[in-house]
Amino acid sequence: MRRQIGEDGRVKRGPGSNTLRAKVEQASSGGTRVTLSGAIDESSDLDGVFAKVTGDMVINMKDVERVNSMGVHMWIPVMARLSAKNRVVIEEISYGFVFNANAVANLFGAARVVSCAAPYYCPSCKDHVMVKVTLDEVNASSGGAPAKRCAKCAAPMDFDELEGYFSFFKTSSAA
Ligand SMILES: [Zn+2]
Repeated sequence: MRRQIGEDGRVKRGPGSNTLRAKVEQASSGGTRVTLSGAIDESSDLDGVFAKVTGDMVINMKDVERVNSMGVHMWIPVMARLSAKNRVVIEEISYGFVFNANAVANLFGAARVVSCAAPYYCPSCKDHVMVKVTLDEVNASSGGAPAKRCAKCAAPMDFDELEGYFSFFKTSSAA
């Protein structure tokens, strides 16, 4: 169910790519910005990653390449705890995470997911690409896939997933 197409065509499986890494920095807006990368699985120290993060936060998940069922199992209580006390905004969840978000109702607790990766196909370039889609764009398209143009040739692209791909947005934005 997972596609190995990165926006940059990267399919990295080198040493260390299975480790969850976090870059924690102060956001100019006052909160904390957490950039996650790697994989979320049974070897991920999620509690350790978020132990030093307090207050409102933005979590970017663009470079989380993989999540498995054990990772989801550990992720849920961490998100529930963080989003109960703080305002948590989550950006750019990956293709694999979208499937988990649609299958698991409480995946992000009370956090607000504002964007995700979505697969599109350019019929002109015959190219599959991952495109960032925001909650605002989905809302403007009545919950469906927003129109996107190819970055290379500017042709209108076709959304390349099932209807309902963006349905997790409703759940998380209602919180
Ligand atoms: Zn194109």
